[in-house]
Amino acid sequence: MVNLRYDHYCWIILSLILSLLLASVEGNQHPQTGHAVVESKKKCASLAETFKLPNTKILLAEYVENGTTINLQNLDPTCGSPNITVNSNICRVSWNTTTGYKSGFRFEAFLPIDWSGRFVTLGNGGTGGCILYGDLDSTAKQGFAAVDTNNGHDGDHALPFFHNKGVQQDYAYRAVRMSARQGKHLVRAFYGKSARKSYYVGCSTGGRQGFKEAQDAQIHFDGILAGSPAIDFNHLNSWGASFLPITGSNTSAGFITFDQWTGIIHDDVLRKCDGLDGYKDGIIEDTLKCHYTADDLLCPSGSANRTDCLTEDQVKIVNRVYSPMRSIKGEYLYPRIQPGAEGFEAVIVYLTGTIFGYSDWQKYVVFKDPNWNASAFDPANYTKAQELNPFGIQTFNGDLSAFRKNGGKILHYHGNEDGIISAEISPRYYDLVSKTMKLAPHSIDQFYRFFRVSGMGHCGNGQGAHFIGNSQANLGPTNEPEDSVLWALVRWVEKGIAPDYITGTAYVNGSRDTGIVDYQRKHCRYPFSNVYQGKGDPKDPNSWKCIYPQGYGYGHGHPTKSLLS
Ligand code: CA
Repeated sequence: MVNLRYDHYCWIILSLILSLLLASVEGNQHPQTGHAVVESKKKCASLAETFKLPNTKILLAEYVENGTTINLQNLDPTCGSPNITVNSNICRVSWNTTTGYKSGFRFEAFLPIDWSGRFVTLGNGGTGGCILYGDLDSTAKQGFAAVDTNNGHDGDHALPFFHNKGVQQDYAYRAVRMSARQGKHLVRAFYGKSARKSYYVGCSTGGRQGFKEAQDAQIHFDGILAGSPAIDFNHLNSWGASFLPITGSNTSAGFITFDQWTGIIHDDVLRKCDGLDGYKDGIIEDTLKCHYTADDLLCPSGSANRTDCLTEDQVKIVNRVYSPMRSIKGEYLYPRIQPGAEGFEAVIVYLTGTIFGYSDWQKYVVFKDPNWNASAFDPANYTKAQELNPFGIQTFNGDLSAFRKNGGKILHYHGNEDGIISAEISPRYYDLVSKTMKLAPHSIDQFYRFFRVSGMGHCGNGQGAHFIGNSQANLGPTNEPEDSVLWALVRWVEKGIAPDYITGTAYVNGSRDTGIVDYQRKHCRYPFSNVYQGKGDPKDPNSWKCIYPQGYGYGHGHPTKSLLS
């Protein structure tokens, strides 16, 4: 009897501890009482009158109930659906901030009522004029007070940059930096206290924006999640514009067709490089080991009009596509497209024989000429964008010491099938950090970890285990650190458990809609490389092992050798 009562009390105490722990881990994830809802609504609406910021006009402050569909009025058509369904109870706040006599940005915040105490600033994509409402909703649902901006202009196009340095400055860094500062003030005003941890999340342009904040270290972020970053931005833009003159127009004689890229060339790439990781599954784990040329595809002399081989000119074009961009003096400017990407994204982005849309940066900012001829872009001009480098947009500074000193952590990822931003710019940046800071990987690991995600395209999509939890569109099966890079970063920042790998999930039919996991793969942190161990089910992540490349310089102060060709 005594023992039973003792057990009973122990059980009550354990239950209490467990509830407290759950509350601290998940925030206040319990239904609100009627009174609390009324108070939240009142507090949210009052911000329209009480919350003040310089040069800012509040447009909206309203409570939005879980399940409500919001109509996003005046959304630029390039920014996606004009409606979004909100999946948690939030206070939505929006305003316009003026940054110059003809520049400014629009700000949006989704403040969840069930708040975990965390704050996140989101970046943008492409030419950066779209608020990512899906990611605002997704991060708010995960308990973050989330903010994002239109980055100083509406729509995913570059015309607003034309002769407007204010808009360029907002895009280079100012909108993100100011919105993070503003968002922190807003959090204090709405919740009555500061966020306990601040994060940044972005991919593509958003990845660059994250690294810009890490490099400049003007705003305190405890954790930065930066994917497929548009770093070395000026050279990236020149690189993007360089393909049309290389491939020629899609109406030119001998143009390499979609079917040739995705057929004989992609097959040849896989024949030579798929098995380098120990297992032929159509996915290249480490493109840096793949030194591809199309020389073997040359048609035998005397053969004409064949589609199963390439002419001499076509072989030269393919080999140029797989070579780094160099200046006319031969300096290495930007990495090649990594082999494998030709089968998916690159073929519909850069190898189409038409003008690449984001070349508009060249047109409106670099050459300042609306009639600029994209077909005539010449290697002599590859360095022109970098010479201009408006507002330090290059984002390729290898010194992260101020960020490190502030105690921040960076989780960086890049998909190996990325066909928009070369996946090899990311190891190039990692090597730059290593050389600049004179740190070997085991030291960089303390504050900055980079992961190569095989089978992943640009920020998502791809043929392999690419669902890593980096965005609403790319969530894994759970929001646990084992399935989500965002939560792996949170665990690193808040519990000091650094990720040695990140787990990606592949769903049956490649779609999360099926809900059925096909397999998972552990993506290694750079410079480790994922290798199948020759036995066991290849769909079992434990049949693979992260192997350290010989000669990289681990433990010797700084790299003695770059893995880049
Ligand atoms: Ca493989």
